[in-house]
Amino acid sequence: MSTKKQSKVYNCLNRNLSKSIRSKQCLLCLEPSQSTQTLCSPCENDLPYLGHACRQCAIPLNTDSVSLCPRCQSKAPPQDHALCLFLYDTPIDQLISQLKFHQRLSYGRLLGGLMAKYLKHYYQEHPEDSPQAIIAVPLSRKRLAERGFNQAEILSRPIAKELNLPILRRACQRNRDTPTQLSLPAKDRRRNLRDAFDITLPLSIKGEPIRHIALIDDVMTTGATLESLAKTVKTSGVETVTLWSLARTPLHI
Ligand SMILES: [Zn+2]
Ligand SMILES: [Zn+2]
Repeated sequence: MSTKKQSKVYNCLNRNLSKSIRSKQCLLCLEPSQSTQTLCSPCENDLPYLGHACRQCAIPLNTDSVSLCPRCQSKAPPQDHALCLFLYDTPIDQLISQLKFHQRLSYGRLLGGLMAKYLKHYYQEHPEDSPQAIIAVPLSRKRLAERGFNQAEILSRPIAKELNLPILRRACQRNRDTPTQLSLPAKDRRRNLRDAFDITLPLSIKGEPIRHIALIDDVMTTGATLESLAKTVKTSGVETVTLWSLARTPLHI
């Protein structure tokens, strides 16, 4: 999307915010819509969908004839599957930013609802890929206190409801704050995240060990955070891990 279009969408989002919260209008274009805090069909269709991507890390792929990117082909990541809905591009990046840094929790419900619709459709087509439970990537205690909510958990709620899956809320914790991930090169981000998570409860449902867990986060950049948690979850005995992320940055940085 062009810079001009980006700033137009951003201005539009800001201007429309208070207005669309109260009235039944599309959040992005202000056309009348069925309910508050939603998108009209043309705006929903115009979102930056990811398209064909690597099965294990969701990096976009140019050709439909391959299912794994060169990186996953040469060294398998800890997760077995990854599903992302959007590219991290306008207006998804701005909606996520509004959710995280301006407490627009309703945006999280909207985005989680879009993800839920996508995942429901996917698992209807591929029931053999279905996980049994969800873990939202936890924030450190300090960051959770600062923000007041975990955006990944907000996103996970409509998904859990739509897919009828439990969210394991206290199953794991993030041990420490990590420096802003974007400021570090990919190799350092992975080092930075080693042992960042601990499993704090047995990963089971009604006494039965869980074989397949889905981990959800808002944005997958290098994938280092989700991969670190995937590794920890597998170490605790889970056989299969699927990653869900609302948005994917297009390149391994
Ligand atoms: Zn619209
Ligand atoms: Zn890959």
